[in-house]
Amino acid sequence: MCVFCKIVTGEIPSYKIYEDDKFLAFLDISQTSLGHTLVIPKIHVPNIKELDSDLVGPLFNLTVNLAKKITDALDTNHFNIINNTGELAGQSVFHAHVHIIPRYPKDNLTIKFTPNKLTPEEFKNLQEKIIKSLDK
Ligand code: 5GP
Ligand code: ZN
Repeated sequence: MCVFCKIVTGEIPSYKIYEDDKFLAFLDISQTSLGHTLVIPKIHVPNIKELDSDLVGPLFNLTVNLAKKITDALDTNHFNIINNTGELAGQSVFHAHVHIIPRYPKDNLTIKFTPNKLTPEEFKNLQEKIIKSLDK
């Protein structure tokens, strides 16, 4: 059983903040920022791509609602919502989950998008490639 499945069953303790029949939210052990929370489906799927599409909307809805409540409770209006899918994206636990990361002044956390300069042709190629795959 994976570590998050063990958290669902209670075999591994966690600081739970929300639970219903389908989802669980608990404090991330790393507390990258205070209030760093993970929202997971109770059912084991290795990543968000494998999650039943009926659960994707409710998971995002719950995540946004919890992000609002968590940041209210911790006196900030700022947060990141992050999902890591695959090792290259930084996924380390292969049970689908979404991070809620409250942000504070001078929290020393860097989530940086480094820009790549593309030509209009390169943009167009990318656009076409992606649009083609939407038809599959
Ligand atoms: P990922 O890198 O896969 O997107 O995120 C996995 C997260 O799970 C990490 O932020 C890590 O701190 C957290 N984590 C791993 N093991 C445990 C655990 O046993 N309990 C809790 N609460 N969080 C965990
Ligand atoms: Zn699992």
